[in-house]
Amino acid sequence: MPTITNWARNITFAADRLHRPDTVDELRAVVAGSAHIRVLGSGHSFNRIADVDPERGGTLVSLAALPSRIDVDRAERTVTVGGGVRYAELAAALHAQGLALPNMASLPHISVAGSVATGTHGSGNGNRSLAESVRAVELLTGDGEIVTLARGDVGFEGAVVSLGALGVVLSLTLDVEPTFEVAQHVFGELPFAGLDFAAVSSAAYSVSLFTDWRGPRFEQVWVKRRVPEAVDFPWAEPVGEARHPVPGMSAVHCTEQFGVAGPWHERLPHFRAEFTPSSGDELQSEYLLPREHAVAALAALDAVRERIAPVVQVCEVRTVAADTQWLSPAYGRDTVAFHFTWVADAEQVLPVVSLVEDRLREFGPRPHWGKVFTADPAQVAERYPRAADFVALAERLDPEGKFSNGFVRGLLPRRT
Ligand SMILES: Cc1cc2nc3c(=O)[nH]c(=O)nc-3n(C[C@H](O)[C@H](O)[C@H](O)COP(=O)(O)OP(=O)(O)OC[C@H]3O[C@@H](n4cnc5c(N)ncnc54)[C@H](O)[C@@H]3O)c2cc1C
Repeated sequence: MPTITNWARNITFAADRLHRPDTVDELRAVVAGSAHIRVLGSGHSFNRIADVDPERGGTLVSLAALPSRIDVDRAERTVTVGGGVRYAELAAALHAQGLALPNMASLPHISVAGSVATGTHGSGNGNRSLAESVRAVELLTGDGEIVTLARGDVGFEGAVVSLGALGVVLSLTLDVEPTFEVAQHVFGELPFAGLDFAAVSSAAYSVSLFTDWRGPRFEQVWVKRRVPEAVDFPWAEPVGEARHPVPGMSAVHCTEQFGVAGPWHERLPHFRAEFTPSSGDELQSEYLLPREHAVAALAALDAVRERIAPVVQVCEVRTVAADTQWLSPAYGRDTVAFHFTWVADAEQVLPVVSLVEDRLREFGPRPHWGKVFTADPAQVAERYPRAADFVALAERLDPEGKFSNGFVRGLLPRRT
């Protein structure tokens, strides 16, 4: 029996086959013929969010073989992208037409629909999650109907960060803006002591701080400015050679540094689109909390630095602006995100994940839906004020729970 795994290979999906329909009609037939179905995007999540329930004999389907759709509407300043398109392809196509997205995640290889479904984000005090660019969602529901929800429609804000639980996202319409250039500067050591987080994180369009927890300091700060913005970063010295976020790793796959201006999509991600890692030896977790707790949360984690350091490759601290998507981890609050790239050893990592969660609990952290975490429905309900509205929307759009799975039900139980 063939095994289907996620990118990190820490998850083997319960389905023995990945359906790859070539046409929407074929996709419709697969959906109609399945009692339970989940869509797999580019498989970059680290938990069972995309999986089917083994006891329900579910169908796993990929949209990657559907004709790629990237339709620009200049008058509306939007682009409509198919449910299998990845950011790398979209970004290059937009830039070629003089257009841009406001922000990107660290890796351009992830699918747009999969990223939006988990509330994926980049960095920047004024930059909102990638989901917030969505203006309309076109869903194929379990009964074969196509439902479009657009900004302003009742339930729209629940349908974007959907955890894949509402139907197949056939397309997303995103806001676009005129293309712009970004220049990236990397600075060296920045001690935790005396950190003015508000000033540092607002130094440029996008700022990411990296620590490996081997000392009370960030060993790198990546500062991405929109050209012709100037950058004034008096807290640390520029580094002398190109850097990878993980100390000691070759920077060959990283986007251009040293302040060389270039297209937005070749600077906002940390990694180059031409470098395509088919799998990764890592696990990831990320916790998003109200930004005003940044320094206190950093201190809470620094107190257990010696437990974190042996199992972490690197930790990235970045900011996200408040958004309006019900299940976005940045919903309704300006956010600071603590991201952990762990070593690929779940046995060693999971106790430290619990420790990190204990240390952050008082700040009301919302875990990234696509990464490794523990949470229960009570915590989800407490941390997401619109959680019950999302459940009601799922019950309305998918009354039979065809698209639900154990991961989603375990965190957002249905009422029926
Ligand atoms: C190296 C690496 C770097 C990363 N960097 C960042 C980062 O900078 N910022 C950040 O926030 N996250 C980051 N992530 C996490 C990543 O963005 C999320 O896991 C995201 O969901 C990945 O998209 P995907 O297409 O691989 O989704 P998958 O893991 O394939 O699926 C995620 C969810 O989307 C659903 N889905 C996918 N496509 C559809 C569709 N067409 N219709 C309905 N449901 C669908 C799936 O059912 C599932 O529920 C990173 C992950 C990796 C591995």
